[in-house]
Amino acid sequence: MDDVTAAAEALRMASTAVALTGAGISAPSGVPPFRGEEGIWNEYDPDAFHARRVRRDPGGFWEDWLDLRADLFDAEVAPNPAHHALADLSDAGRLDAVVTQNIDGLHQEAAGSVAGSDDIESADLATDAGADEVVELHGNGRRAVCRDCGRTVSAEEPRERARAGELPPRCESCDGVLEPDAVLFGERLPADALARAERLAEDSEAFLVAGSSLTVEPAASLPTRAARGGATLLVVDLKPTPVDSRADYVFREDVTDALPALRDAVLE
Ligand SMILES: [Zn+2]
Repeated sequence: MDDVTAAAEALRMASTAVALTGAGISAPSGVPPFRGEEGIWNEYDPDAFHARRVRRDPGGFWEDWLDLRADLFDAEVAPNPAHHALADLSDAGRLDAVVTQNIDGLHQEAAGSVAGSDDIESADLATDAGADEVVELHGNGRRAVCRDCGRTVSAEEPRERARAGELPPRCESCDGVLEPDAVLFGERLPADALARAERLAEDSEAFLVAGSSLTVEPAASLPTRAARGGATLLVVDLKPTPVDSRADYVFREDVTDALPALRDAVLE
């Protein structure tokens, strides 16, 4: 049995299968990573995106955020075959959840449930159970959230208002300052998403890491948590990761090759 067949078998047999994804899964869609040599933070000042800045200078923050966002997500950004492979596995009931460090919303778009529609209930965001569950460890830049009342809305409309000169854009319910619903520097990860991710890792029988360098906590410790609980650990990454030595299967391949191959083997 080759590795793809054996790894596919592990995914098929698992009563709970979970994927963890990072910047590497969106890179083939043209979304640059935040960290590393090619990272966004070499070009932009991280202090400009600190939570402090939103309080001190929300208008300036929004101007810089629009610039950053234009770099991160140009109009052509769309899910790639790796996102679609995971969405197909979810649809087929072979993948229970995707835990992601990304804020680009591409998993949700691939699954056909585009986050960012108006008036999303925040309770649905991280705890939505079901085949298409996406746990957002760092939030989702396609949404904006009101600092005062916590209302979440599609980010598109406040962005347009900001571009038209409303700096900062304000909440239509309470006039509070809106900010991107993404984890900023100086902010903690959303506790419910983190707790959900940890629970999923512990419960998983197969845990697949795709495109995450596993250098940032707490994502870095999720695979170890899963492996300690007895999960079969699968890693797909062009570069070595800190858990390769613990992994049952390591595919040193591009995510857009390895994940569709894995999907085809699971679903055949
Ligand atoms: Zn509000």
